[in-house]
Amino acid sequence: MLIDADGQALDTRRPSAEALLHTSIYRLHPDVNAVLHPHSPNATLASRLFSDAIILEDYELLKALDNITTHESRVVVPIFPNDQNIPHLALRVESYMALHPDTRAYIIAGHGFYTWGKQLDDALRHVEALEFLFDLEIRLHGVRQS
Ligand SMILES: [Zn+2]
Repeated sequence: MLIDADGQALDTRRPSAEALLHTSIYRLHPDVNAVLHPHSPNATLASRLFSDAIILEDYELLKALDNITTHESRVVVPIFPNDQNIPHLALRVESYMALHPDTRAYIIAGHGFYTWGKQLDDALRHVEALEFLFDLEIRLHGVRQS
């Protein structure tokens, strides 16, 4: 369906309550043309294991993310508590992103994650890479606990 920059419908259908989380990314990053929001098992599980953020470091696959050219990189994926008050959640995300403009993805606890890119292919590549890296961090956490 089509919505405007404020999340209002441009056709007869009703947008998801989460549309505001998409439009806030487009507002913050004018060069972004695709925002994806998978209800991913790995992101959901990771949000149960890690509290404030997942730190991704020293993975070759980090190079799948925009503007990263070496495994010697550190990517912070913040985790925000889920909230049925989407305007409130969007404000929280926007405040974080204003302080951390290089954020490439964020997780909503017990829910899923958001990532984006200049084009749909870029956003899809980010989804695939982050799914893989979240899975590794979950496994690593299990190894460290045993
Ligand atoms: Zn959702």
